[in-house]
This record gives sequence, C-alpha cells and structure tokens, in this order.
Amino acid sequence: MSRSPEPSEPDIAGLASADEYIPFHRPFLGEEEEQAVVEVLRSGWLTRGPRTACFEERFADHVGAKHAVALNSCTAALHLSLLTAGIGPGDEVITTPYTFAATANAIIHTGATPVFADIDGSSLNIDPEKAAAAVTTRTKAVIPVHFGGAPCDMNSILEIAERHGLYVIDDAAHALGAEYSGLKVGSISDMTAFSFYATKSITTGEGGMLTTDHDGLAERARVLSLHGMSADAWKRYSDEGHAYYEVVEPGFKYNMSDLQAALGIVQLGRDRKMHERRAEIACIYDREFSKMPQVRLLKKDRRSVHANHLYVLLLNLESLRLSRDDLARAMENLNVGVSVHFRSLHLHPFYRELYAIKPEDFPQALKASESALSLPLYPSMSDSDAVTSASVLGSLIRRFSCK
Ligand SMILES: *Cc1c(COP(=O)(O)O)cnc(C)c1O
Repeated sequence: MSRSPEPSEPDIAGLASADEYIPFHRPFLGEEEEQAVVEVLRSGWLTRGPRTACFEERFADHVGAKHAVALNSCTAALHLSLLTAGIGPGDEVITTPYTFAATANAIIHTGATPVFADIDGSSLNIDPEKAAAAVTTRTKAVIPVHFGGAPCDMNSILEIAERHGLYVIDDAAHALGAEYSGLKVGSISDMTAFSFYATKSITTGEGGMLTTDHDGLAERARVLSLHGMSADAWKRYSDEGHAYYEVVEPGFKYNMSDLQAALGIVQLGRDRKMHERRAEIACIYDREFSKMPQVRLLKKDRRSVHANHLYVLLLNLESLRLSRDDLARAMENLNVGVSVHFRSLHLHPFYRELYAIKPEDFPQALKASESALSLPLYPSMSDSDAVTSASVLGSLIRRFSCK
C-alpha cells in the first residue's frame, strides 16, 4: 500500500466547516445554579456546612450507597479511599494506564506502587485477564476506571479481588449514572470516587465524592478529609456540637465547601435529564459512524448502562493518510472542538522512567493513545451540532482515506 507522507497541516480547502464554533465541552448551568450560589453567599456560611451535608445525603441516595463523603476533588477521593483501605509503602495497586494522571498519582501519594494492566482494545477498559496476571503478594487493591462512562467488566474484577483479598476502588470520574448488572456505579465496589470537575457530567467547579457502604471507611475518610479532626467545623459550631475537637491523625484539607455543594445539589437534580440527552447525542454519532470503515466504535457491554460522559472513536489509521493529531487540528480549523482521552500514562516521562516501562509493554493502550479521538458530547448541544460534528469528521476522513 502506498502511503503519501503525513501532511503536517492537512489541506482542508473546500471542506464544509461548522458555521459557529462547537466547543468540545460546555457546562450546563442555569439560573437555579446562580440562585443557589447567591443564597450561600448571603447565608454567611461558606465552607462545609448544611448544604454539603444535604448534597452528600442526596448523592448517596442517587447512586444507592450508604455513605457519601463530599471532597474537593476526585483525586482526593481516590487518595482517601486508598489511605482508609490501609494502603501505603510496599503495597501495589493495580490499575489501567489508560486514564488521567490522578488515578496513578493518588496511589503514588500513599507511598504504594501503581502496577499497570493493559486495556481491552475494544472497550478501552482494563482487561481483567491482564489485571489477574498482575497480582502479586504485595497487591492490596484494584482501581478500575470506567472509561468514558462505560462500566468495566466488574464481575471479573470483583472475582479477582475476592480470590486475592483485594479492595476494589472505582475511579468513576466518568461514570455518574452508569450501571452494571442492574447496580449503579457507586454502589458496586468497596469505595467509589466521583469527579465534579468543570468538564465532568455534573460540576461544582471543582469537587469530588467518595461513596461506600462501609461505616468505618466512611468515618475515617471524613476525619482524614478535615485535618484528622474528630468532628467537623459545622458540627462544632452548630447546636448539637460544641467548640471542642481532637486531632486523631494528621489529615488533609480535602473538604468540599457549601458554595460547591449548592451547585452540586442543583446539578444532581438535573442529572437524569442530562444523562438522557447525552445518550441521544451518542445515538446520533453511532448512527453517523457505524458504517464508516475508517473508524471503529467502542464495544458496549449488554449488562451495563453507559454514562456517555465521552464519545470516543478509534481511527483506523491504516486506512488514513494522516495522524490522529493532524485530524484533531483539522477539526479545530473546521470549527469543531475535539479532545484526546488519553495518552496512556505509561508513555508519559514520569511513569515511563520511574517504572522503566516501554511503550510496547502495553500494546493496546499504546494503540489507543495514537488512534482515539473524542467528539463533543454534552446536554446543551443540539442534534444539528452533533450531525455537523460528525459530518465535518466524515468529510475529513473521506478526503484523507487511502485510495
Ligand atoms: C477528571 C478525572 C479524575 C480527576 O478528577 P478531579 O476531580 O479533577 O480530581 C480522575 N480520574 C479520571 C479518569 C478523570 O477523568
């Protein structure tokens, strides 16, 4: 097959672009959010307080967990999950390299070692067989990441964990609203970490939540989230509490504020509607791309409900005369915002050098790192935004197909 040299600036002359720029993401915020934040400002209580407690209660209910601990990020939720599970120096935690840095960094911050297991190339989720093969006597936990909002093969992961006595901590940054075998993500594993970062499916600007059914783990996470103090400030100064506390261990400053929680409560109330809308947009993309040989859709698991946080396509680079990065640049030039999830962690210098990993050590994650492209997917998009995004990509792909 003859391949012309890769164009660094693809020739997009004559191709139709979107009339107005379609950003990759836009948070869905309305007057209710504005009002909720203004109310907090006027209430005189800004930090963790009644609104945070209310958000925790509603969130726990929403995902079917006994406890929800509101934090300032998903990264904090992952870190506290690991610490409350007793993980530290000398321990190993198995996770996917095909994730955001936070997943591995949280492990490293406990003093433990992240051990990567390659992904399944059809779903981009951790491959349970690879995870099982990575277990050693030092392994203490597994962190499955529900990539893009598609639940991992949890039956297999829970089975591995059971067999070896491991904790399962879900990185559910993408997976609010996802379900597996009739169970909501957030109620399946020992602990689950959610993100409310600005680009996630619901947002508090910055924020996260740790959910668990274990009373002891929830209590310790709560204490660790606020300096290791035995009672939080709101309780200390409210009627039921008293201005007395004890520091029981050196904790962190990981708590959520009532300003964030006020946003979270309103956003959570919109979650089901936003989830439905994202599913509709994903459906439009599926329809547009299902017959295009130059792209591959991710495999969906019949046992699960997808959160549709991301819409990720895999480019069949063999049949294209340009790289994913060139294609992404051309999409931007044609007024459609795109993104890349992810460049596998094992390709980043820090992990590569520290753990002496070669790109080929995780061939599926390597391949996905070069061929995955994420398209805009959020509730405020119109159907025609989705059709336009798809047709801009379609016309680029046709122009740069190998003859
Ligand atoms: C966004 C993200 C995180 C981190 O979330 P923060 O709330 O920003 O800490 C962790 N894991 C994955 C997979 C993410 O996409």
